[in-house]
Parts: sequence; C-alpha cells; structure tokens
Amino acid sequence: MKPYLLRRLILPAWQRVKRQNSLDLLPYLERTQWLSPDELEALQWRRAAALLEHAHEHVPYYRSIMRKSRIDPESLVRNRSLEMLPLLDRLTMTEQRDSLRATNLPTERFVPNGTGGSTGEPLLFFDDRNEAGWSEAAIWRSHRWYDVDVGERCAYLWGANFDLTGYQGFIGRIKSRALNLLMLPAWELSEATASLFWKRLCQFKPRLLVAYAGALHHWARLLGNDRDPVPGLCAIIVSAEMLYDESRGAIETCFKVPVYNRYGGRDLHFVAQECQVRRGLHINSENLLLEIVKDGRQVAPGELGEIVITRLDNFVMPFVRYRSGDMGVMNDALCECGRSLPLLDRIEGRVQDAIVTVDGKIISGPFFAHVMKDCPDVREFQVHQLAIDRLLIVIVPQAQRQFVSRPRIERIAQQYMGRNMQINFDVRESIPLTRTGKRRIIVSHLSASAA
Ligand SMILES: [Zn+2]
Repeated sequence: MKPYLLRRLILPAWQRVKRQNSLDLLPYLERTQWLSPDELEALQWRRAAALLEHAHEHVPYYRSIMRKSRIDPESLVRNRSLEMLPLLDRLTMTEQRDSLRATNLPTERFVPNGTGGSTGEPLLFFDDRNEAGWSEAAIWRSHRWYDVDVGERCAYLWGANFDLTGYQGFIGRIKSRALNLLMLPAWELSEATASLFWKRLCQFKPRLLVAYAGALHHWARLLGNDRDPVPGLCAIIVSAEMLYDESRGAIETCFKVPVYNRYGGRDLHFVAQECQVRRGLHINSENLLLEIVKDGRQVAPGELGEIVITRLDNFVMPFVRYRSGDMGVMNDALCECGRSLPLLDRIEGRVQDAIVTVDGKIISGPFFAHVMKDCPDVREFQVHQLAIDRLLIVIVPQAQRQFVSRPRIERIAQQYMGRNMQINFDVRESIPLTRTGKRRIIVSHLSASAA
C-alpha cells in the first residue's frame, strides 16, 4: 500500500470506524511541540483543570477524597501541583474500580482495557473512546522526528499476545497489509527462526522497526554483525523493557541504524520518547502530567524517584497521580532540537525489579548490566533476590565457554551491597521469558511490605 493512499483513504476510514481523531490532532501536536516551555505548561494545566473539575463533580472516588480533605480543583491548578491528592496504585484501582468510573458519561465511551500480570498484578480499567486519539497522534508525531511519516511501513518485534491477536489469522493478515504493518512475534524468536524473521523483515522493507529491547538484543546476538542493512530501514524504536547502553550498542552494530528509546504502557499510554539528539526522552506533555515522586512528594530534577502519571486523556476513569511502578529521573535542560517538551533523563526499571540491601540501598538493573558487560563469558543473566541478604544469580554462559567471572561478579556486588549479602550462582542453558515474552534482569521475591 502506498503511504499517501493509506494516509488519505484507509486511515481516515479506519479512524472513523474506531471513532478516533488522531489524524486531526497530529497537526495540532506538530505545532505545540515548538511552543515556549511556559506556553506548553499553560496548555497542559488547562487540560488538567478540565479533568480535575470533572473528577470532582462526576467521579465518586475523587469527589469523596476532595470533599473530605477540602481540596478545591481550582487551587490545585492555581498552584500547579497535585501533591494534595493521594497516589493511585493498582490495588486501589482494582478495589475502587466502580467508584473511579465517571457517572455522567455514556457507556459507549468506556473502552475496556487491561495489563497482564507479567511484572505486577493484572489490572483492568477503562479508556475513554472520545480521547483515545491523543496517544496515537503523539506516537505519529514522534515517528516524524526520524522522518518516518504516517502510513509508512512499520515492522514490530512484539510480545504480548493480546497486542498481536488482532493481526493474526486471515483477517489479521489483511489488516496488517492494509495498514502497512509487519508483526513478528517475539516469543517465537529462536536460533531456528532468527534468519527467517530477518528474511521477512528484508522483504517487507520497513522504514521503522519497533521492538522489545531485550528481544531485539537477543535477535541481534543470533544474527551476528555481518549482515547488510535492512533495505529502507532508517530507525529502530525500543520499548516495553529497559534499554541498556550495551543493548543499544549491540543492536546498532547489527542493524546499522540508530536506536531510540520509548517509554509507555497499556495503562500509561505513550509517555515519552527520544528525539534524534538522544539527550533524554521528550515527554508527551500535552497529554499527561509526569511527576517523579519519593514518599509522596515530587523530587528535584536529577533525583531518582518513582514515575507518577496523570493522564489527561481519560475522563471515563481518570488516572490521577497513577503509580507507574517504574523509577526515573527528570532533566531540566532544554533539548538542542528546540522542542520544549520536557525531558525524562532516564528510566531505571521497575520499582519491584530492584535489589534492596540491609542498609536500604536500592540497586537497579543498570548496575548489573554494567558489571556483566565486562564478562565475555556471560551471554544472559538474571538476578533473583530471595531474601534481604541473599541473591541468586542465574547465568547462561556464552556458547563453548566456561563461566569464570564468578569471583569478579561476587567481589563487585559485595563491594556495593555489603559483605553480608550472600550470593549464589546457578549456571543454566536458558532463562525463561515472562508470559508476555519479556526479559527481566532482576526478579525480587521479597514481599512488597518487606521491600
Ligand atoms: Zn530533542
């Protein structure tokens, strides 16, 4: 399908079927990314004001909280701070699912959605049909940062079953064809399929490849570095998993195009993405408020905390100060590209995917990725925290190599985590993926209360 035909005919029709307005919102977002930081913030808070006012009037959960604590939405907006409101976690969303629903909106606006339980508890929620175009429009805008226009060929190396089911079978194949998409299921990636997937990718000639970071790194390892570039491919976006510097380097060496990091999720929608400067991830701030929070309070740029999101595109079930479960750091610098969309400096992985030491230190995935990059005998690894003072590190050695880095890893780990951290190793042939095809570097077996 020619991209311009897709843009002019198929996509407008498809958008009408889905009752979405991403194509109308795109020119608006193209303009707003160049506003001054003050103008952008004002726009963001205008949308937040509408959401908070609505939550106060029509969402029982928020009406009760605001009335009890005498919180007035207007004063929140005036102070440009949501700190008076509690954080919203998955458990509360599940327990309060009915009282979080707006009482004044028609049922056809409620679109059921959910996340799997691969890295936390499953969550069922509703998206707002009338506002659903914002996220997709922002994704299209971010593709244009790399000169990839709406409707151009895009391949996905993706995992979650529920994301791919719509593109399987006869109808699914017609749909992907009509929308210029190629779907490669990440969970089928193996030594046997690596070259086959590569062949399909080269035949399809995508402009863009979107993939799980870990799965793509695994694919790059299986493919080696001697292949010609994929015809037409100009950028790779990785998402849904942590992107480590080592993975980025390995993927770029194999595929010979730049790799950009994206952050988002089914519950968070599209949050942030790197532009070509790659100084941080530009936040999709017309559509969300992002806070970095420690103990309920916002921390300064440069400080690590949990990423907390207020989605401005959901009136049917408002996500206000929703805990993402991921840790991150803000950067208050302006990007050299000239866009005023603020920068998320980096993402440090999931809160529960971190090691906690006896003295309260938090060690996240990048630490181990950094240690392991200097161990040529290690192909894959996974760190399990079994107790506050006990780790089990599962190692998959490189083919035809002995695992000899054990003393080195032990020494560095104990240097950072204390000598009382007992470290055991288990050498295996492979590490199973999560149900949705993701790779986890750290698995904590401490209960939430112990952590
Ligand atoms: Zn930029």
